[in-house]
Amino acid sequence: MKKINPTAYQRIVFFTGAGMSAESGVPTYRGAGGIWRAYDFAEYACQEAFERNPEKVLRFHELRRQAVLDCQPHAGHRVIAGMPEAFVVTQNIDGMHQRAGSEGVIELHGSLWRLRCERCGAAREDYGRKYETLRCECGHWLRPAITWFGDMLDEAVMRKASEIIDSCDLFIGIGTSGTVWPAAGFPELAWQAGAHCIEINPEPSGEACYHQSIRGKAGSVLPELFAAEQ
Ligand code: NAD
Repeated sequence: MKKINPTAYQRIVFFTGAGMSAESGVPTYRGAGGIWRAYDFAEYACQEAFERNPEKVLRFHELRRQAVLDCQPHAGHRVIAGMPEAFVVTQNIDGMHQRAGSEGVIELHGSLWRLRCERCGAAREDYGRKYETLRCECGHWLRPAITWFGDMLDEAVMRKASEIIDSCDLFIGIGTSGTVWPAAGFPELAWQAGAHCIEINPEPSGEACYHQSIRGKAGSVLPELFAAEQ
């Protein structure tokens, strides 16, 4: 595998999806072991479900938080965290990149570790296995600040990600199937911007906008790809 010297690039973007975390043991949404095979998203992950029964939805997200806390970032997360000048744009909500040490991670679909109040607009971070509180200081239920089925994406976050990708010169897509839009359009945006585009995925994703596809797992490919040349 041809090694990458990160100092040869002005702006590196790592664009990650569920496959990045799957290697740490975080369940995917689809496929074997996917959580929406065991749970109906209409009962647990949409605004209507929250309005019907906020406590049930919050307790479900608490279980997801516990499942994530039982997993650890892998060597691939640590390689990325070791390049603080690179940008991380993730579709994941699990905070694994941050636990490995990455800062300024752009979370396209929100975070399991943030809550917001839809009545007064307050937001809070909460990192424990159990939520510190399910209620805002104003008395309203707190809602997980993640993009549920049927939710609009955060426009400001999408704009920021697009701007960064539009001006990168190395784009590395990892563990994403390229099926969830509009994030699935990011490889093409990087390609159009003239970036060198690399994909890391054990399976073909069907995305055409990569100069190089490395068929392997993030946890072993990333350390090898960025190992210093002897
Ligand atoms: P996806 O589930 O559609 O695709 C995952 C991809 O990862 C597949 O192409 C698979 O071949 C690949 N993969 C599996 N193991 C890998 C490994 N070890 N290294 C590299 N690649 C590997 O995921 P997606 O494209 O991210 O879309 C799913 C959506 O679901 C996203 O929008 C995301 O927000 C959400 N999601 C997030 C989490 C999380 O936060 N961990 C988990 C599940 C789903």
